[in-house]
Amino acid sequence: MAGSIKAVRGTRDLLPPETETWNFVEAAVRDVFRVYNFKEIRTPVFEDTQLFTRGVGEETDIVAKEMFTWEDRARAQSEKTQSLTLRPENTAGVVRAYIEHNLGEKGLLQRFYYIGPQFRRERPQKGRYRQFYQIGAEVIGPTSAGSESPAVDAEILEMLAALLGRLGIQNWTLNLNSVGCANDRPRYLEALRAALKDVVHTMCADCQRRVVTNPLRVLDCKVPADQPIIEKLPRMSDYLDESCRAHFAAVQTILTSLGVPFVVDHRLVRGLDYYTRTAFEFTHGALGAQNAILGGGRYDGLSESLGGPPAPGIGFAIGEDRLVMTLQETAGAATRPADVYIAPLGAGMNVHAALLSRELRRAGVIVTLGDESFKLKKSLETAHKLGARYALIVGENEVGSGQFALKNLGTGEQVKVARDEIADRVKVSS
Ligand code: AMP
Repeated sequence: MAGSIKAVRGTRDLLPPETETWNFVEAAVRDVFRVYNFKEIRTPVFEDTQLFTRGVGEETDIVAKEMFTWEDRARAQSEKTQSLTLRPENTAGVVRAYIEHNLGEKGLLQRFYYIGPQFRRERPQKGRYRQFYQIGAEVIGPTSAGSESPAVDAEILEMLAALLGRLGIQNWTLNLNSVGCANDRPRYLEALRAALKDVVHTMCADCQRRVVTNPLRVLDCKVPADQPIIEKLPRMSDYLDESCRAHFAAVQTILTSLGVPFVVDHRLVRGLDYYTRTAFEFTHGALGAQNAILGGGRYDGLSESLGGPPAPGIGFAIGEDRLVMTLQETAGAATRPADVYIAPLGAGMNVHAALLSRELRRAGVIVTLGDESFKLKKSLETAHKLGARYALIVGENEVGSGQFALKNLGTGEQVKVARDEIADRVKVSS
């Protein structure tokens, strides 16, 4: 016999009750985004491959090793095949949409958020999947709209602190750095290459590759033996030009005034090429090795590198899988049980149960509906297994008298309640 088919490695099913936590997270973040006046954007799950090679950067791990890319079949002889890719991240897609729909034309800042799946062919482990979910936000617009202002960076970071607070997540660390801009980065890369020239042969294979392709990423290396070398490398902060230095200082001043704690981490660089100036990551101790809950930063040149107008921007992406994990590990996220299990008792009672459940649901009560073929004992057992707080018995006598037997499954106490008082009764004691 053929074996059963399983979900593909690195993907997983999200099942109840865990999906309750996902819904809780998404509802809470939407609430926070609303008061910061961020609006939702939904871009396609796959895009032209060039969006990522040009946007994210050919030499990044994501583009070089992790994309799910395929040649799309031509539909007609005259048509060429097109290389398509499942999005590994969403910023490039958002900026493409900004350019394509000319969203900067009104001269205003655009504040977007998104929630959705991303795809990377990474080695799966706890907290790292091939299909994972990100909640992200982007602020982008023409320079005249203030898109380069350090106030925007601070607002985004303060919003993140509010968001984590809203979810009840404490004890996070905000790591902050400035990775400079097109003006000062080349000088720094030169200094980095010079410092690495004589020592890189003693470092790990990844570092030896990165020194050629993307020397900034050497700072990201976690191999213990390389750490003493990396600690002695030149720091970006010593190479920032005057405007980048002032920008970074202003971000820190606002954050300090707002009471948002942060740590400057000179080694923080991000895995994507498009970042300029402010780069940041929030980490949480409950997560183990994959401890980054979210990351982000400025990307002042991204729109232009995708063929668009100058449109500085800043954004972040939260790993929703990791956010949910953090909640599970710290708060044991609550899921709400069903309020009432309705037990129709005997032939013809399904109709009455359906009518009553509609009334109760309209009043906001969570109802699970049983079936008239069940004996009372089986109904009560089912209600217990489901974790319902009450069982409501709907038999011929109840329907006739308008008085229903309501059993509190916690205490075992049973009372008669008039039809129009049931909703209040089960809600009052919730
Ligand atoms: P990045 O887009 O690489 O800056 O990632 C932003 C956040 O997404 C990270 O901080 C993680 O929380 C999450 N993330 C990135 N890659 C994965 C993955 N393969 N599985 C689960 N979460 C991920």
